[in-house]
Amino acid sequence: MHLLEQIDRWGHLTPDQPAHISDGRVLTYGELLTRSDAVAAWLDAELCDSRAPVAVHGHKEPEMLVAFLGAVKSGRPYVPIDISIPAQRVERIIANAGAALILTPARVDGIVAEGLPSRRRHGAGDDPFYILFTSGSTGEPKGVIITHANLRHFVSWMLAEQNFLTGEETFLNQAPFSFDLSVMDLYASLATGGTLFSITKNHVANLKELYAAFRISGLTTWVSTPSFAQMCIIERTFAEPMLPNLRRFLFCGETLAPETASQLLERFPQAEVWNTYGPTEATVDTTSVRITREVLKKWSPLPVGAQMPGTRVLILGENGERVPAGERGQIVIAGPNVSPGYLGRDDLTAQAFFTLDGARAYRTGDWGREREGQIFFEGRMDSQVMVNGYRIELGDLEANLRALPEIADAVVLPVEKQGRIDALAAIVVLAVEKTGSDFAFTAQLKTRLGERLPAYMVPRKFLYVDAFPMTANGKADRRKLAELLA
Ligand code: AMP
Repeated sequence: MHLLEQIDRWGHLTPDQPAHISDGRVLTYGELLTRSDAVAAWLDAELCDSRAPVAVHGHKEPEMLVAFLGAVKSGRPYVPIDISIPAQRVERIIANAGAALILTPARVDGIVAEGLPSRRRHGAGDDPFYILFTSGSTGEPKGVIITHANLRHFVSWMLAEQNFLTGEETFLNQAPFSFDLSVMDLYASLATGGTLFSITKNHVANLKELYAAFRISGLTTWVSTPSFAQMCIIERTFAEPMLPNLRRFLFCGETLAPETASQLLERFPQAEVWNTYGPTEATVDTTSVRITREVLKKWSPLPVGAQMPGTRVLILGENGERVPAGERGQIVIAGPNVSPGYLGRDDLTAQAFFTLDGARAYRTGDWGREREGQIFFEGRMDSQVMVNGYRIELGDLEANLRALPEIADAVVLPVEKQGRIDALAAIVVLAVEKTGSDFAFTAQLKTRLGERLPAYMVPRKFLYVDAFPMTANGKADRRKLAELLA
């Protein structure tokens, strides 16, 4: 069944069931159906034959869901833009997307489609479903095109793997809709007739409100970055009694530290913990693994999982050859979940995408390794730095820091002096109480790290924080961390 039909079905079967709850506002499946139909009819009347993308600008309001589905029902892809994105960048995104118009919650509220013919001709297959802008290495945002077929492949996999209870799940929506992690909770929820429970910037600004919201949320499926869960763990009452119905944590987007997984298993004995991995260009995620006590005992750092059925995750060497199992190479993804490329950027598309044995393939720029069918993520290929002539992968160093039992999470940043990298600094969230002075404790950590790595890789500075500041997308904010060092 077409994803849109799957979602619309709930509008007929369970019209009063909440599809979305955000800041106390409720959108039912019945409302989602009629309002998105109205938006589709209105867009057709407004834009005539243009199939240009529709930008949707807001912050987790129910009207954003109405606008997303309305655009797709009218055969136009949507471009989600969260209000946390600075105005100048929003302008560049809208220009790069060639967006026909911008729908805001207020504009969606004002849409009246009475008297308009309903001409629904939603796309399928290779037609674009949404276009998501990510940061390009040049600083210019790149629009990743995700087609109906891409999304279909991803959603089918998730539904098959997770056995969501139809009509009974409540999904946490932590990530803004402009970040592809949100696609996981949004479409898993809508496809299964579940309720999407958004936490907004108001909750994150006032953590008491966040925990109060959790208590009445009825959450069954948690979807977030590991950083966000790590922040919640700091609250002692963040445990089963706060979320008694929770059945699983699904993580993606950053390294899941063993310590985070282990604490969650302790605090939520009734819930599973999953690590998943993938870039926006391959539709949210492509590998997954359930992190059990046995997995924690066996691997540190943790694997990101095995490839999804129907898609291959390969480790390739410099010349595109497959490297032997256990050796390091670039993670390449080939399959029906891989995007056709970047909107209007054939140059960038040609650099990153290619065809492999007849399948669309994407070079992730991530270092990885395969062991026993599991993929291990080992940092970005472009986070390579040279310190005093030594070539160091920051991701590699971070993974080794996290492997120390004293460390819950770590970010390593270069310290520059007169325009060149002079040393490395580790910013660390500890898993244990610090003993003795900072100096003595740091010396101890350096010794332990020196047992795993060559001396030139051991950071000179160590800085201890309770939690990492986060970007609007919920990943550790490296820029803010760099300011701590200044
Ligand atoms: P994005 O396109 O914003 O989702 O970022 C994708 C990138 O995030 C990947 O290429 C990886 O570098 C990183 N990433 C995604 N999932 C994981 C994971 N489970 N563990 C470590 N890094 C991850």
